Amino acid sequence: MRRPFIAGNWKMNTTRAEGVALATELAKAAESITKCDIAVCPPAVYVDAVGAAIRGSKVGLGAQNMYHEPSGAFTGEISAAMLVDLGCRYVILGHSERRHVFHETDADINKKVHAALKAGLTPIVCVGELLAEREAGTTRHVVETQCNGSLAGVTAEQLAGLVIAYEPVWAIGTGKVATPAQAEDVHRDLRAWIASRFDAATAEKVRIQYGGSVKASNAPELLSQPNIDGALVGGASLKAADFLGIVAGV
Ligand code: PEP
Repeated sequence: MRRPFIAGNWKMNTTRAEGVALATELAKAAESITKCDIAVCPPAVYVDAVGAAIRGSKVGLGAQNMYHEPSGAFTGEISAAMLVDLGCRYVILGHSERRHVFHETDADINKKVHAALKAGLTPIVCVGELLAEREAGTTRHVVETQCNGSLAGVTAEQLAGLVIAYEPVWAIGTGKVATPAQAEDVHRDLRAWIASRFDAATAEKVRIQYGGSVKASNAPELLSQPNIDGALVGGASLKAADFLGIVAGV
């Protein structure tokens, strides 16, 4: 039985004080959360302060990105070991904004996945199609190609412990949520892809989150789908009440 996992991607939002206040409120509320794992992924510069605010609580700490090299002359970049040093357990990799705004390729993401795993982080690997790709009927091909590329060389054991986030690009930050049936179809395809590339037991273990305009009102139906194991939440993770409203839908 897969334990649901709800993670908040704060993107480039909050001040230090706002992030700490949000994290503190979540840490307190999390005391009574029993049905799922939760995590927050603040901006990199606030990971340390937010980590201190949630230390010892049920709220996990994640980062939004990292670089694959362990150290060296890579101005502006952050390594997996640095994130571990700050108490991170998770790192989002291949978010659609990284793919489409910063032109990260599956090969780039694959290097990051291996570096994150080596450092002991749990990658949250994002995949998802553009609206034109959905309309062209190529969604399955797109997400499988992204999985093939970004998860190349990962062992079944590593895969079982990581998280995949299916995030249709047309639903991210747009208010247009995939219907539970549309999301479940892709999640089922992704699990079938894992079973065919690895094995059925591994496919049963991998947690696949849905992301794209998730909010308290649509979360219960999305999260009740058999292959949807949680959510990666952007906009609605910036207010404790909104995020906790989603968690309540598990
Ligand atoms: C995201 O950033 O991963 C996301 C799904 O954003 P939103 O919930 O705002 O659509």
